[in-house]
Amino acid sequence: GQCVSVCPVNALSGRNTQQPVLDALADPDKIVIAQTAPAVRTALGRDFGYEPGTLVTGKMVSALRSLGFDYVFDTDFAADLTIMEEGTELLQRIGKYLKGDQEVKMPLMTSCCPGWVSFVEQHFPELLDNLSTAKSPQQMFGAIAKSYFAEKLGVDRKRIVVVSIMPCLAKKYEASRPEFAVDGNPDVDISIYTRELARLIRYANINFTELPDSDFDRPLGESTGAGVIFGTTGGVIEAACRTAYELYTKKTLPKIDFEELRGLEGIRSATIDFDGTPIKIGIAHGLGNARKLIEQVQNGTSPYHAIEVMACPGGCIGGGGQPFHRGRMEVLRKRAAALYQEDRSKTLRKSHENPYIQALYANYLGEPCGPRAHELLHTHYFDRKEAINMFTQENQEG
Ligand code: SF4
Repeated sequence: GQCVSVCPVNALSGRNTQQPVLDALADPDKIVIAQTAPAVRTALGRDFGYEPGTLVTGKMVSALRSLGFDYVFDTDFAADLTIMEEGTELLQRIGKYLKGDQEVKMPLMTSCCPGWVSFVEQHFPELLDNLSTAKSPQQMFGAIAKSYFAEKLGVDRKRIVVVSIMPCLAKKYEASRPEFAVDGNPDVDISIYTRELARLIRYANINFTELPDSDFDRPLGESTGAGVIFGTTGGVIEAACRTAYELYTKKTLPKIDFEELRGLEGIRSATIDFDGTPIKIGIAHGLGNARKLIEQVQNGTSPYHAIEVMACPGGCIGGGGQPFHRGRMEVLRKRAAALYQEDRSKTLRKSHENPYIQALYANYLGEPCGPRAHELLHTHYFDRKEAINMFTQENQEG
């Protein structure tokens, strides 16, 4: 009813779920940084009366500033960084594979979706080495914010609180994994989802629709179109192909848009011509579809060099933390279209052309997949089959 949007009960429930964010914002010793995932800007407007798929990027940034964040940065920046690492990893693996190396694990499987990573850890641990070791954009952002950016500010990492705004429930779990912390201090302190941000905005009585548009802060707020399309199924692998193609062939892409990788069919495949080398790509969204691709890998019939999987329908645009879309394909289509539109509107559309990413490598990280990049931006995975079995057994016995 009417009171849902205006009465204080709603505000109070927002307060309860978002209290750690409010506490950090109220603490004068803390430097509180927001990062916003690509899919959030296509869906947040829904909670303030906008049509599905309306991009509200500028108002979202203003709202976060009004809430008191010291810096408003963009996970899209870290998506560009993920592409630098994952694209390089893909080329290294393909290079070895084409030379006949039997040890190299093919296909490379994307690892930016924690729902998918957990699925592999729990059900297909024998394929852990196929997962890219590149951390997800959320975690790369946290690692860079608390090293490079903390050093730039000249402050201890413990004074920085990284809050990520994600379309996703699984990102909370990802942020809490102990391997993503330094001496117990997590790279990402708090992960909230799109609906929780909407609640925070209402709780603070911010009139969202009246807000001016503003830009992300620099340097961790600048991104290319490749970082933007991460939010939709097929976008990660398209972004990787744009960079991997140019690094591999040393030529400029004849056409930036890989239409063959787009769409909402559950399983898609395409062959991309890397200047005479055919690279085969598989894409799945939804874990039922992913299972079909992974079974091919298991029984040795997978034709692919690389596979992108997103656990949610449509990818992150259909994430569990987004305003409800009730599975309506039309809504997902509009959200995806909004991301492709933002990509097209960018001057820079390839991750390796992001000048802030270039500066980060030149001044801090060194080479993609080099020693420093490995230390900060890569991770490892665990066999969790045993843990699940024990849990099930205990439950049955208990
Ligand atoms: Fe999270 Fe779903 Fe996106 Fe995976 S696809 S990262 S589970 S929102």
